[in-house]
Amino acid sequence: MSVLIVGSTALDSIKTPKAENPRLLGGSASHAAVAASFFGPVKLVGVVGKDFPKKYIELYRRHKIDLEGLQILPGKTFHWSGEYEVNMNNRRTLLTELGVFETFNPTLPKAYQASEFVLLANIAPALQHHVLDQMKRPKFVVADTMDLWLNIALPDLLKLIPRLDGFVLNDSEAHQLTKEDNVFSALQKIHKMGPKYVIIKKGSHGSILSGPRGFFICPAYPLHQVVDPTGAGDSFVGGMMGYLAAAKGSIDDSIRRAMVYGSVTASFCCEGFGLNSTTKTKRAQIERRVQELEKLTRF
Ligand code: AMP
Repeated sequence: MSVLIVGSTALDSIKTPKAENPRLLGGSASHAAVAASFFGPVKLVGVVGKDFPKKYIELYRRHKIDLEGLQILPGKTFHWSGEYEVNMNNRRTLLTELGVFETFNPTLPKAYQASEFVLLANIAPALQHHVLDQMKRPKFVVADTMDLWLNIALPDLLKLIPRLDGFVLNDSEAHQLTKEDNVFSALQKIHKMGPKYVIIKKGSHGSILSGPRGFFICPAYPLHQVVDPTGAGDSFVGGMMGYLAAAKGSIDDSIRRAMVYGSVTASFCCEGFGLNSTTKTKRAQIERRVQELEKLTRF
């Protein structure tokens, strides 16, 4: 089964203490779509400008990502720029140029409307609503978000949360949303807003799921060197959704393993700038790291 992914399709200019790389392929939907593509077919919904390099379109194609829902409009592609400190958990946004995103109105191709697995990757919640409104009867809808929307579009986000099966956010966003310092209390409060599955990401410390079968603590793959963590959260949720769409059996039976696959896919993302490392990864390498994680966490 395929996963429909909507989110940002961007050019990212990224600075770390060691290097600087301008105009890489980025955006929440790009990272999530490539990650999901390791497990099955992906349908992408997004927008780019006429300046979007052809080589990036080819890269999506190499990953067999369906591009019928990618609009190419006159104007500039969304451009985001960020700078990391020596401690890569700390990032500063230097620039956000919306470009064609300013007037983006995602209209789903007919073939997309019956998708059963939907990932509303990080993008304005009003656009996440708009995509969901066009879906026929999705089986499993998950959304990701960011602090910006908690700051400037909270009413839209609060209306979206009850429409979701799963909600994914990081620990500082969970704190901002619930005012809870304790992650387990935050999970409980977010459940009360509607979603059956709530996942709080904790960067290099993994993630925590709260669902019908209780909690699950998902480890991050131990990396000795992080080159660029941009898109790790998107790769995590993209890998998880790709795995779930391909899995047989119920969501409850598969979601823990799906998170581990998401976590491993995100580890490859962190080993190169932008999508450089993820796009070179082979499914067999993902399997090896999953087995390593299994050994590391068994007791
Ligand atoms: P992450 O590292 O998981 O937070 O995701 C980083 C990605 O989010 C980058 O590739 C950016 O292009 C994208 N991004 C940054 N700001 C925004 C925004 N306001 N809306 C949508 N995507 C964004």
